[in-house]
Amino acid sequence: MTDRSPPTLPRDFVDALLYSKRLVVLTGAGVSAESGLPTFRQAQIGLWSRYDPQELATPQAFVANPRLVWEWYAWRRQLITEASPNPAHQALADLQQLVPALTLITQNVDGLHQQAGSSDVIELHGNIGRTICSRERTVVDAWPVTEEFPPLCPDCQAPLRPDVVWFGESLPSGAVNAAVDATATCDLFLSIGTSALIHPAADLAHIAQHRGALVAELNAEPTPLTRHADFALQGQAGVLLPELIDYFR
Ligand code: NAD
Repeated sequence: MTDRSPPTLPRDFVDALLYSKRLVVLTGAGVSAESGLPTFRQAQIGLWSRYDPQELATPQAFVANPRLVWEWYAWRRQLITEASPNPAHQALADLQQLVPALTLITQNVDGLHQQAGSSDVIELHGNIGRTICSRERTVVDAWPVTEEFPPLCPDCQAPLRPDVVWFGESLPSGAVNAAVDATATCDLFLSIGTSALIHPAADLAHIAQHRGALVAELNAEPTPLTRHADFALQGQAGVLLPELIDYFR
């Protein structure tokens, strides 16, 4: 353990982390931004710049224009396939080996935490790599290739869709229950790279604080959580998190 405190990392926060027995980390799209994956609030790039993701990631959009939504997800899947975990993902995977207990909850659908080596990741919003039948919710690995969009479930002919939670949909109950259970019993809750605007994920920090945990935020800009947090660190996750890991060495 080193005895230095760069100005970006308040000593009280570092101590809270070093002595945490039950740590919960919630991540959002900001953690994958340095892997080249745009957050929903950044301008989209290329062909998709004129579309608002919050209008495409809805059940209504899928019914109204399934081809458009399917193609947007195909583009996002392609970006994710080409992306690699960045130093923030790596630091969180390392942290899991360094603290007594770390539960990682993510709103990201890209699977980069698992690629970096994090285990037992709670995916609140699904995973874009999986495709499901929109009626049965079963995972479908292969389907007949046709000119029609969306492709249809080989079993029941219902439209196929990505296994992600769209705006206005319920989150998977198993993931929510696991996230709330871990949050209600943690001693330190870290919110990283999330705008803290999307509920119910944004409620977790308040549950933690209500149950007596310290709450810290690491984000590129202030959010609605910032003024409630015990520690608010502004900066890039890919810089701040590796700095934090240095304190364990
Ligand atoms: P968001 O887009 O609402 O907010 C991202 C936050 O991260 C912003 O506050 C931004 O200031 C911050 N940020 C950006 N770059 C950062 C960096 N390098 N370091 C630290 N902070 C940084 O994302 P959200 O809160 O996760 O919620 C939006 C929804 O979008 C979620 O449901 C999520 O599933 C989905 N989404 C996922 C991905 C992904 O899986 N990679 C990408 C885009 C959107």
